[in-house]
Amino acid sequence: MSVTETTAGTGSRGALAAAATNLGKVYGTGETQVIALEDVSVGFRRAEYTAIMGPSGSGKSTLMHCMAGLDSISAGSVRLGEVELSSLNDKQLTLLRREKVGFVFQAFNLLPTLTALENITLPMDIAGVKPDKKWLDQVIATTGLRDRLGHRPAELSGGQQQRVACARALASKPEIIFADEPTGNLDSHSGAEVLGFLRASVRETGQTIVMVTHDPGAASYADRVLFLADGRIVDEMANPTSDLVLERMKRFDAARLI
Ligand code: ADP
Repeated sequence: MSVTETTAGTGSRGALAAAATNLGKVYGTGETQVIALEDVSVGFRRAEYTAIMGPSGSGKSTLMHCMAGLDSISAGSVRLGEVELSSLNDKQLTLLRREKVGFVFQAFNLLPTLTALENITLPMDIAGVKPDKKWLDQVIATTGLRDRLGHRPAELSGGQQQRVACARALASKPEIIFADEPTGNLDSHSGAEVLGFLRASVRETGQTIVMVTHDPGAASYADRVLFLADGRIVDEMANPTSDLVLERMKRFDAARLI
């Protein structure tokens, strides 16, 4: 049974926000060829928080980039909502990404001259889309930054800045948010703030989140963890705890030493 069937086939916990089927990704040709992903099938259900873990070079970023339509694929297919990415031309893909995908990166990528609120609404301002006021209000309530909305990034802590970046990703109500090591630049207290916010956005607003992390503590905020090794999904854990994830990661390390 494939991962897609095990995790997405029941249909009882909501439709899929995104899915890959037999996804393969090869970089380069001939002797320099690298197989970054091989036969990956996975579904991401709506309102579910997934962490992706695995050793460096196992394909985590590549999987996220292929799922988000940021990178071309070599085999299989990727679907965002009901849309098959291969059916789109570049312009359609750009529009789909703008409408359906939110990104959060390790570096907060906020504009220093804009206030927190202006940063949150910037992508919609650029796209000429009016924010849904009620939704924006809910997102702001979840950030816990209501009394900081007029502050510029330099006047906010690292955790607060990353919460602004998360709110910016959420503001346009994307189908799915991809977060690449969102707490990588934060101390543990600020990291916990951001992870708590991401989890709240899943619980309270039904957001779908896929987060790459190397930190078992961060992964424990997710509903499930996918483990990648050598470009394949090799394991999956529901309701992870830090200890269980750490145990699983240690087995990867042990396997590498043998
Ligand atoms: P991870 O995020 O788990 O560290 P990556 O997805 O970045 O892994 O990389 C998976 C594999 O693909 C690695 O062997 C990496 O060197 C290779 N790779 C990633 N991006 C490129 C690229 N643009 N060109 C060539 N090889 C790449």
